[in-house]
Amino acid sequence: MGLMEGKTALVFGLANDKSIAWGITQAFHREGAKIGISYAGEMLEKRVRPLAAEVGADFVEQCDVSSDEQIAAVAEKAKKHFGQVDVIVHSIGFANKDELQGNFYDTSRAGFHLAMDISVFSFVALAKAFQPIMRRGGALLTLTYYGSVKVAPNYNMMGVAKAALEASTRYLARDFGPQGIRVNAISAGPVRTLAAMGVSGFRDMHRNFAEMAPMRENITIEDCGNAAVYLCSDMSAHVTGEIHYVDSGFNVMAMPEPDQFKDKE
Ligand code: NAD
Repeated sequence: MGLMEGKTALVFGLANDKSIAWGITQAFHREGAKIGISYAGEMLEKRVRPLAAEVGADFVEQCDVSSDEQIAAVAEKAKKHFGQVDVIVHSIGFANKDELQGNFYDTSRAGFHLAMDISVFSFVALAKAFQPIMRRGGALLTLTYYGSVKVAPNYNMMGVAKAALEASTRYLARDFGPQGIRVNAISAGPVRTLAAMGVSGFRDMHRNFAEMAPMRENITIEDCGNAAVYLCSDMSAHVTGEIHYVDSGFNVMAMPEPDQFKDKE
């Protein structure tokens, strides 16, 4: 029997088969969950529908999370379709390209608001919209990155947004705790996805990561999927408000190995 048998999971943030949301969707499907999928807009539909079919999802709905009306509409449709849901995955982030290069102080007011709205407030808004139909024993999950805690060059505005997202995870854990619902985040190492390619210098960051991480390997969307199964199934009952690193151990290192400095001398 699968670890998520009998659970209904709604995954937000599927763009294509490189998305972290796809790794999570596949792992949930493998573990027996019933899946619903939500994607940002029409342009993605062609890619998303065949993926949804692969996991037998018959709930496939568009939702631009910058719109309160669209969030309310998708929650209403989910209520009609599923009755109640057990798991909500928020695998969504966005900042303008201008905000992901150069100096952080050049962030514009509009760019700051946009990144916070799409990447942070949307998690809070989805939590509120789905709260009435979440079943006890359920879980909310979001995706974050270490640039929230330490400075990652060019990550700039997204680092600040991820810090707010991690704090939101803890506040939501407090709100949902009495309802028997857990709220956690996966802090993933760099993965080559559409969103990641928007960060200036991402390719170098991806390569250097594997050189510095204790395990000397990059992570995969399958790794995120398996961690998500743990955080969204009864395997992690009583784990809430946590930022769970899936990063080959990168975050425990204070600096690269001495031999990695040598060729630069
Ligand atoms: P991705 O591009 O596959 O996914 C990002 C998703 O956000 C897309 O599906 C996109 O459509 C969606 N989105 C953007 N604006 C939206 C809106 N207004 N309404 C609804 N959806 C919207 O890239 P990904 O790397 O899989 O990103 C998923 C999450 O993982 C993000 O929060 C990202 O910051 C986080 N993350 C990524 C990495 C990485 O290196 N790729 C590392 C750590 C954390």
